[in-house]
Amino acid sequence: MSKIYRVGILGATGTVGQRFVQLLENHPQFEVTALAASDRSAGKPYREACAWKLTGSIPESVREITVQPIGPPLDCDIVFSSLPSAAAREAEEAFARAGYPVISNSSVYRMDEDVPLLIAEINHDHIGLIESQRQRRGFRKGFIVTNPNCAVASFAPPLAALHRQFGVEAVIVTTFQAISGAGYPGVASLDIVDNVVPYIAGEEPKVEIEAQKILGKLQDGVIVPADFPVSAQCFRVNVIDGHTASVRVDLKEKATLEDVVSAMSKFPSLDLRSSPERFIDVTDEPARPQPRLDRDNGNGMTITVGRVFPDNIFDYRFVALSHNTVRGAAGSAILNAELLIDKGVI
Ligand code: NAP
Repeated sequence: MSKIYRVGILGATGTVGQRFVQLLENHPQFEVTALAASDRSAGKPYREACAWKLTGSIPESVREITVQPIGPPLDCDIVFSSLPSAAAREAEEAFARAGYPVISNSSVYRMDEDVPLLIAEINHDHIGLIESQRQRRGFRKGFIVTNPNCAVASFAPPLAALHRQFGVEAVIVTTFQAISGAGYPGVASLDIVDNVVPYIAGEEPKVEIEAQKILGKLQDGVIVPADFPVSAQCFRVNVIDGHTASVRVDLKEKATLEDVVSAMSKFPSLDLRSSPERFIDVTDEPARPQPRLDRDNGNGMTITVGRVFPDNIFDYRFVALSHNTVRGAAGSAILNAELLIDKGVI
């Protein structure tokens, strides 16, 4: 029997925290033993502290767990963090310093040069940064690993497929992001019902820089980012879950449409517990992908790509969609933990 790791969730009462709780129920490698959130929730049983918004009820195994404050120690071996950035900065560092592996969804440490920004299928070699992170920050056992912004999670995989085979020269991306991406209670209904909002605070700068780090090369202990520019516009749309990205891309080498589709659809998945059968699923159905129909593909871990065509100005265009709280957050963090165990880092 493989070892069971005890896990704690920071921000457990929030949108991503609830998704962690749901995805970790019955996970063969992980048992949720600690839940932490703000002072508003600390001291209460989880069922009382949490305004549960997912289908189904709160798993029995966590209902009565008392929510803790977000500082060490917590009764667990691994910490998943889904805290807002302001709270994450201090808490994640404190847990890493106290010896816990911290696997974070927050943006605060993503672009730090000694912190891996991981999509397990694309850049698992970047976990090589952990040793220098420990030395630089004086962490003895603990470390911080991050996963990308939820919109980046939808288009970085097809870009990775193209970058590996043909080289990416330049990208324009327009994102249509779900309401759950703003957390709970998030965007006021009077702002989003019957509407499209052409602004998400702080989002465009993240979407313009993270893919280059993910597709960068680990050389002599540092990540050399991929050298293509990304221009992004991000919209909030009236969809509950599932971020859509409309992408136009110039390639360094010539590629036929068949080459482009094949590079994406053949990009391998991994053989970990949370790996989907297909990492990227390319459809030629004319009106897909759609959030309602495609966000749950591969249990929310598959990226669905459609509308792949030559473009009149760029080389190609396509639409990519992924589930923002699964592939874009909790699901990817769990996959990263499975990867770190598989590689012997945890
Ligand atoms: P959320 O629904 O607002 O949940 C925030 C969680 O953090 C709650 O558990 C809340 O506890 C806790 N919290 C808030 N302020 C705190 C403080 N000062 N001290 C301690 N705990 C505090 O937000 P979310 O959407 O889950 O997002 C969480 C993080 O994941 C953010 O960094 C976000 O950028 C990132 N992320 C979100 C998504 C997504 O699709 N939503 C995707 C990728 C990454 P209380 O309930 O006690 O207030």
